[in-house]
Amino acid sequence: MSKVDCYSCAQSSAENLPIRENVCCDGGWRVAHSFNSSLPGWLVIVPLRHISSPDEMTDEEAEALGRLIRDASVALKRTTNCEKTYVMMFAEAEGFSHVHFHLVPRMSDLPDERQGPRIFAYLKETPLSFAAQDEIAQNVRNAWPARE
Ligand SMILES: [Zn+2]
Repeated sequence: MSKVDCYSCAQSSAENLPIRENVCCDGGWRVAHSFNSSLPGWLVIVPLRHISSPDEMTDEEAEALGRLIRDASVALKRTTNCEKTYVMMFAEAEGFSHVHFHLVPRMSDLPDERQGPRIFAYLKETPLSFAAQDEIAQNVRNAWPARE
């Protein structure tokens, strides 16, 4: 897998990313709204450099990831009123071997048939428009907790 073939590397190296692709950038990670989710607030946390498995994270990336998962979860709870967030990492899809952690708002009315790993059904429907993704991304950024 070269950088050229990698969706995440191509996005990270692009200039002037829309907010849906850059909700937050910190500690070697970029937080984006999923481009193919029909569920508002489905975020992905991707490293700025190409790594294909979590064992390749540096100490700094590992520490920053923990904070980002918490901070993004706080922001999602404030934005979507979700009960909690799901965190998943597979990096198996063609062109997406670049590590990406899915951070998904688990809504209180989530149907039984979409609970747990079945949440991925939201990536198989008509995705939210880019305009809708940008709006949610802005709301998530505005709700991001302040660092102490
Ligand atoms: Zn990559």
